[in-house]
Amino acid sequence: MKAVTYHGVGDFRLTDEPRPAVVGPADALVRITLGAICGSDLHIYHGNVPIDEGAILGHELVGVVEETGPEVRGLRRGDRAVAPFYTACGECAQCLRRWWSQCEERATFGFGAYFGGLGGAQAEYVVVPHANVNLAKIPDPVEDEQAIFVGDILATGFFAAERGEIRPGDTVAVVGAGPVGLMAVMCAHLFGPARVFAIDMVDSRLEMAGDLGAVPVDSRVTNAQAELQRQTGGLGADVVLECVGQLGAIGTAIDCVRGGGTISSVGVPSELTGDFPYYDMWNRDLTYRSGFTNVHAYLRPLLDLVASRRLRPDRIISHRMRLDEAVEAYGMFDRREATKIVLRP
Ligand SMILES: [Zn+2]
Ligand SMILES: [Zn+2]
Repeated sequence: MKAVTYHGVGDFRLTDEPRPAVVGPADALVRITLGAICGSDLHIYHGNVPIDEGAILGHELVGVVEETGPEVRGLRRGDRAVAPFYTACGECAQCLRRWWSQCEERATFGFGAYFGGLGGAQAEYVVVPHANVNLAKIPDPVEDEQAIFVGDILATGFFAAERGEIRPGDTVAVVGAGPVGLMAVMCAHLFGPARVFAIDMVDSRLEMAGDLGAVPVDSRVTNAQAELQRQTGGLGADVVLECVGQLGAIGTAIDCVRGGGTISSVGVPSELTGDFPYYDMWNRDLTYRSGFTNVHAYLRPLLDLVASRRLRPDRIISHRMRLDEAVEAYGMFDRREATKIVLRP
């Protein structure tokens, strides 16, 4: 089968790889019908992630079940399904607490041996272990181009919004209007805020955020904190959803929230440690949450929200390309010429 594989920093290639096979009793072999390139793939592209030569890349996928092990229930050959970007075992103490993201056996698709040695989604086939837990059947009205978001960035946007504890009438600010930030804008609206601001510095992203019902704040020309205060009678936002992960963006989130407010951060932190305003957090009664998205908890509700058209995540797709064009697609994505690229094998 064809797959995108890692051969060094900035050196991704389309190569021929053996088709993976069902081995474990709860494995499912999935023929991928749609993959995508995600911002976190760029961390690999730039050499910021430990990964082995030849690893198959990609962690966003939808596909059709081809074959299942004897312990797989509720999924049959021919079913359309979406997988979270990582797998959980479904049986450990954390999985039983519904914290699949904290599973003792968590493994991520497309990140090589160091992250559990799963296959990748920028390929024609992938094996999904513990398929009873890690594959959700896609309801008929939901298209592949919508379902693919449920396994990763839509879930991340929802996780951010839910943990922000947005209440009806709140003012919400989203820091970063990249793909995850745009999902956070959409999901924030489910919780009934009066206004959602989106802070970014790229025209196309600000425009898309505006189309999705946010008030764009261009941080190239205006100070985000001052603008938020101006728009809220000097208070700041009730809730800030941080969707970048750079320490500067986390700083902006803390600056923009009102005293007593909540910051919910889902951007992958750019540094392992750094200065944290401990005194300010205490003095201003701030709540700070961050986290690796607990995707499994949201698969079913998000598929239902998409099926009922309350969420339209496919609106952010800017480029539809073939898996054969993946190398070119990475170049475009890296140069920020594309908001979201989906790849069809
Ligand atoms: Zn991703
Ligand atoms: Zn587990």
